[in-house]
Amino acid sequence: MAGRGFMFLQRTLKRSSTVAGIGLHTGKPCQLTFRPAPTDIGVHLIKKIAGTTHSVKVYANNVKATTNATTIGNTEFSVSTVEHCLSTLAALRIDNAFIEIDGPELPILDGSSLPFFHAIQEAGVIEQDQPRKYIYIKDSIKIEEGDKSAAVYPYNGLRIQCTIDFQHKSIGCQSLDVDINEVSFAREIVGARTFGFLKDVEKLHSMGLALGGSFDNAVVLDHEKVLNKEGLRFHDEFVRHKILDALGDIVTLGAPLMGHLVLYKAGHDLLNRLVRKILQLPEATIPFEMAEPSYREDEDRLPWQMI
Ligand SMILES: [Zn+2]
Repeated sequence: MAGRGFMFLQRTLKRSSTVAGIGLHTGKPCQLTFRPAPTDIGVHLIKKIAGTTHSVKVYANNVKATTNATTIGNTEFSVSTVEHCLSTLAALRIDNAFIEIDGPELPILDGSSLPFFHAIQEAGVIEQDQPRKYIYIKDSIKIEEGDKSAAVYPYNGLRIQCTIDFQHKSIGCQSLDVDINEVSFAREIVGARTFGFLKDVEKLHSMGLALGGSFDNAVVLDHEKVLNKEGLRFHDEFVRHKILDALGDIVTLGAPLMGHLVLYKAGHDLLNRLVRKILQLPEATIPFEMAEPSYREDEDRLPWQMI
């Protein structure tokens, strides 16, 4: 045993768990079900369309858009704002899962990851019989665009440092550095809600977007203050939500990261570029098989409905 080190096993959910709500953009009812998945599969989004089940792997190459939120998809379907449910999977160290989507989009819920976190905790997490395969960062990588940057440095664990700087009285400059684990996520990050500005909400509404958006699922600000009656959950809720988003976005690596992520005013786009760069590293050998989960469409019971 000496000198052999130790390993962590891959994890999945113990049983399925469903979260229901309305979609941010359509305002229509939708639900999401986390399901257990076999080892070495990673995380897949699943959707049934006209009786046929389609799936897409949560992976950088399948990221279709990064404006306002991260959209993952293929030619059959795409899903927006995936980062809030993915960050929960990352924090709870779930390697393999199916996320089945029922409805036009994911439920926005309260704009944080709290309902996803509760759903998975309720379902429970189990260890599987294969070791986790981390992507270890050996040399730092940095991507810059104007005054924004996203970098990753070697670190024995997963740590996310984020700085935002908004010319806004209620936000301003906020910075936080969190060593990510189940406990720190539950205490510092999980409840931080997404936020938006009233002027943008009005513009989105006129375009037929964000129809489900309300004070129930976002922190909304006018030109100087937070408009939600209940106020903020943390004085620096904004930067905490950015860490939540980043944790979700790095699930697109397809494997857990060992590194220190340092983000300065970086959004989904810069992070996606950093993820793609990490995946080009020789040391970031793609640890998971890229195989799609196999299923027969004429089967009533889908193979991932285990036990
Ligand atoms: Zn977000």
